[in-house]
Parts: sequence; structure tokens; C-alpha cells
Amino acid sequence: MTKTPFVTEAQLTNITTQFPTPFHLYDEKGIRETARAVNAAFAWNPGFKEYFAVKATPTPAILKILQEEGCGVDCATDTELVMAERLGFKDICFTSNVTKASEYILARKVNAIINLDAYEHIAFLEEVAGLPETVSLRYNPGGVFSLGTDIMDHPEESKFGMTKEQLIQGYKDLQAKGVQKFGLHAFLASNTVTNDYYPTLAGQLFELAVEIKTLTGVELDFIDLSGGIGVDYSPENKQNDIAVIGAGVHAKFDEILVPNGLGAVKIYTELGRFMLAPHGHLVTKVLHIKETYRRYVGVDATAANLMRPAFYGAYHHITNISNPHGPVEVVDVTGSLCENNDKFAKNRALPQVRVGDTLIIHDAGAHGFSMGYNYNGRLRSAEILLQEDGSPRLIRRAETMDDYFATITGFDF
Ligand SMILES: *Cc1c(COP(=O)(O)O)cnc(C)c1O
Repeated sequence: MTKTPFVTEAQLTNITTQFPTPFHLYDEKGIRETARAVNAAFAWNPGFKEYFAVKATPTPAILKILQEEGCGVDCATDTELVMAERLGFKDICFTSNVTKASEYILARKVNAIINLDAYEHIAFLEEVAGLPETVSLRYNPGGVFSLGTDIMDHPEESKFGMTKEQLIQGYKDLQAKGVQKFGLHAFLASNTVTNDYYPTLAGQLFELAVEIKTLTGVELDFIDLSGGIGVDYSPENKQNDIAVIGAGVHAKFDEILVPNGLGAVKIYTELGRFMLAPHGHLVTKVLHIKETYRRYVGVDATAANLMRPAFYGAYHHITNISNPHGPVEVVDVTGSLCENNDKFAKNRALPQVRVGDTLIIHDAGAHGFSMGYNYNGRLRSAEILLQEDGSPRLIRRAETMDDYFATITGFDF
């Protein structure tokens, strides 16, 4: 049970001699293959579009690759909208919450499809930016979201979305105010590793679409299944099969929407993790080995480069690419932050790790760099693209101390 890096030892040695560690390395070939697989899985729906969730990997060179593969972007903030506009995206969704007036104004300016998080935001949007021709509403069914006997998540505890009553009233209000086209959005479970999540969610939203049509006369233009398709971070590597997932949604579409005269509904997705997580490695070198009550492998990356293990206790597989066949030792792999949760692995069996070895931390391509921060004055790392021809290209330089001090330069102390 293991994970295979997308880069060879020789390729990586070539890269680490040019660029200091730590850095995030992305696999262009893998990114394109996944984007194509998603588009193929939903090709049965002529209006299908994947709006990549920018927050997962807000890196222009990556977003451009996805644009070339036909994807749009889903933004949640003004900064993300500006990035999308500057990259020339035409297909932009804006799925925000606790939104500033200026953000709605910007969303309208860049012609983004607006997903409203709150019933109260219908009046707010109208007041601050006017209502566009198309408006989408975000649904929260409350209760728990389960697949069979497995509880996947607790929508009733989620701050996102609106109740069914608010949703129905919302479509009525929007119709009365002259809005022409309508969408429905829901994100009910995160990082699901099962081919049943999207089909189950779709089934519930398709039933709701029929109910909306009955109660309000609104025939939805699109249904946005949002994110939530996950990756298996564990070495078991039992990944979702997007073709099976697409076929599962198709079956529900034919069963529920088509017989109810809603066969023209477009399916949208806002996948982030599924698109990018496996296609990013955090590459780090071993600075020190320390023995106390455990054996500690100290590396030059920290939780400031990849927060998920410290924040969620998330497992990220680690490959010692410098010594893959060494005798196995049990170690903690740690960064240098003055926080004991700055550990990439605890009691992990790894082939013997030596000072100077290069480690690959897998599945860091989404919610990795983007969740980075500057605690302890640690600087954000570079991002490098492993291009399809096998050569590396720097796509974001590492932060410098000048960057870190820029916001306090010029003040009197
Ligand atoms: C985070 C987010 C996504 C992406 O979620 P993943 O789990 O990375 O696929 C999509 N849509 C919205 C509104 C989000 O907040």
C-alpha cells in the first residue's frame, strides 16, 4: 500500500539543484488528464461546466491550464474575482458568504454567475449592485446528510445556504423582480471518497427542482453540484471514479428531471480538491534527525506550507525518494514552527531517513499552498510546474523577507 510520485528521483534531483526546497511541485500532465476525465464523465450533459474552486489552488499558471481544458472558475472573494478577470476567464461563478457590497458590485462587473448564500442577500444584492438576469440560490436542507447508514456531514450545523422555505420564497421574489434565469446550488459534504455522493446529492436536488417548478413555475437553468468529491489521502489509494460518478448523476437526471420536462437543465460542478490535490507534491529536505522519546525527522517545510496535518490531523502520505528501499524506521516528521502540532506525520513507518534526503509529501495540490501563512516569520514557498515535456517551470517565486516586511515598511517604530 503506497503512493507513487509523479516525478522520478532523477527529475527531482535536477529540480532541487535549480530551486531551493521547500516548494510545491505540480504535474501538468495529471492536471490535464483529470480535467479531461471530468469533462468526459459529464459529456452527456451539453451544458456541463466545471468551475474550478480557485481557493484550492489560486495559482495563475494552474488556472490557465484548466482554462485551456474548458473549465471556468468559482470565486468566493473580491481578490479571487480579480484574478479570474485578469486571466481572461469568461465563465466565472461567485459563491460567497458574508459578502461585502463591493464584492457584489465586482461580481456583476466581471459578469459572474452569483450564487446567493442567504435569503437576506436577495434584497442586499438588489440594493447594492442590482439584480442580474441570472441568479442562483444556495440550499441547506438541515439535518444530517447520509449515504445509506453513513453520516457524511451535518448541514444543520453549517453556516452556508438557506432553508427550503427561503429557497421557494426566494425564487418567487426573484421572479417578481424580473430575474429571468435561475440556478440551484448545494455543497453538503466535504472530501467524500465514495462514488455515491454526487449521485445522491443530485437525486435530492433534482427532486427539489421538480418541486420548485410545481410551486413557483421556475424551470431551473442549471444545478450546481459544487465541490465535495474527495481524494483518498491514505496509502490505500482507493480513489473515486469520476466516470462512475458522472454516470450515476446521468441516471438520476434521466429518472427525475427528464420525465418532468426539465431535461434542458445544465449541470455545473465546482471541484477543487478532486481536480488538483493528487497533482501537487510538497517537496522538502531533511535538516536534522533528533532522538528523544521518539525519533524526529526535522524538515525545511512547515505547517505554514501545508496546514492540513496540523489543522485537521489529516494524513498525507510521504515518500523518501532519496532512500526508497532503506530499512523501515518509525518516526515523526516535523517542521520548525514553535507549535507541537507542526508535524507532517506521527509514528510513521518510513524507509530510513537521513540528513539531506528529499521527502515528497503527497496530495498537496489543493488546499496546500493556498492555506499557507506566515507564522514564526516563515515565508511562503515557490510553486513549480512539472511540464508535460518533463521540464520544470517556476510559476511562483518564494516569498522573501522584503515581501514579509513590505506591509510595515515606512512606518515609524
Ligand atoms: C471549497 C468550495 C468548493 C471546492 O471544494 P472541494 O472540496 O475542494 O472540491 C466548491 N465550492 C464552494 C462554494 C466551496 O466553498
